[in-house]
Amino acid sequence: PDWAGGFADWQPGEAGAAARVADFARRAAGYDATRNLPAVEGTSRLSPHLTLGEISPNAAWHGIADAVGEAVAEPFLRELGWRDFGQNIIDQFPDYGDVPGRAAFTRFPFRDDPEGFQAWARGQTGYPIVDAGMRQLWATGWMHNRVRMIAASFLVKHQLIDWRQGERWFWDCLVDADYGSNSLGWQWVMGSGVDSSPFNRIFAPVGQSVRFAAADYIRRWVPELAHLPDDAIHAPWEAPQALLRAGVRLGREYPEPIVNHEAARARALAAFAAARTE
Ligand SMILES: Cc1cc2nc3c(=O)[nH]c(=O)nc-3n(C[C@H](O)[C@H](O)[C@H](O)COP(=O)(O)OP(=O)(O)OC[C@H]3O[C@@H](n4cnc5c(N)ncnc54)[C@H](O)[C@@H]3O)c2cc1C
Repeated sequence: PDWAGGFADWQPGEAGAAARVADFARRAAGYDATRNLPAVEGTSRLSPHLTLGEISPNAAWHGIADAVGEAVAEPFLRELGWRDFGQNIIDQFPDYGDVPGRAAFTRFPFRDDPEGFQAWARGQTGYPIVDAGMRQLWATGWMHNRVRMIAASFLVKHQLIDWRQGERWFWDCLVDADYGSNSLGWQWVMGSGVDSSPFNRIFAPVGQSVRFAAADYIRRWVPELAHLPDDAIHAPWEAPQALLRAGVRLGREYPEPIVNHEAARARALAAFAAARTE
């Protein structure tokens, strides 16, 4: 779909922000049901306008609540609340982009892996949902929130690469780069933040991709897989027949997975156990 092209229709400035609120007001009633689906234009895409101060969170909230009613708009308010929470955190912890909120993570045994980092940043990990997100980020400066969580988790848990490297990459690429929201997001995903879920909750990229119906999103951003059917596109290495029919060779047109999910999961849990007992 066209919108997945990202910000082709982005108009920076106050008038653009107001136009975005008016556009989202027409779709806001469906926000709660669609906000986690990267193949659907389910979110407001107000983030660069909010980050750059082109609209206040208050004005965004009233624009939407007036259109659909406060009760229906409540899930949107919750997300604006996360933004405020991020602002509050960096007010209290100005080093939050560098210093883990939980002491157990100060000496976490991250891997030094420049090649792995490059594969991630370029969208060449062999995990289609991660690669689609990283390519959307590079091409447009924006990435869907669900995919930010999946891609960030992949870097820190599957690849065991320091979350601060990912935070810096997002900072360099995002049109909505915001110190509070970005460090909050990365520390939440790492499990090192003051509010985070436990480290041992590890996102399964394939499971997430299936659950949030990402097939068309992958087709848009990883065109070499566009001819795979829905049931093969999330984990192409498990579908040799479909690959053959689509003329895709792993390691040629599209990479082999750079890590095995189960092995990476076990390695991450062992690293966490080591960090805790130090
Ligand atoms: C690792 C990671 C890094 C992130 N980095 C940034 C960043 O640099 N800048 C940024 O604005 N958001 C960041 N986010 C939060 C979120 O992904 C974006 O705010 C959202 O995708 C923007 O799209 P939208 O405007 O369509 O969101 P909508 O779903 O329409 O939400 C409305 C507004 O609420 C705020 N919001 C929504 N979710 C979050 C959240 N989880 N944390 C903080 N604020 C939120 C944003 O201002 C957003 O514009 C990050 C999330 C993760 C997991």
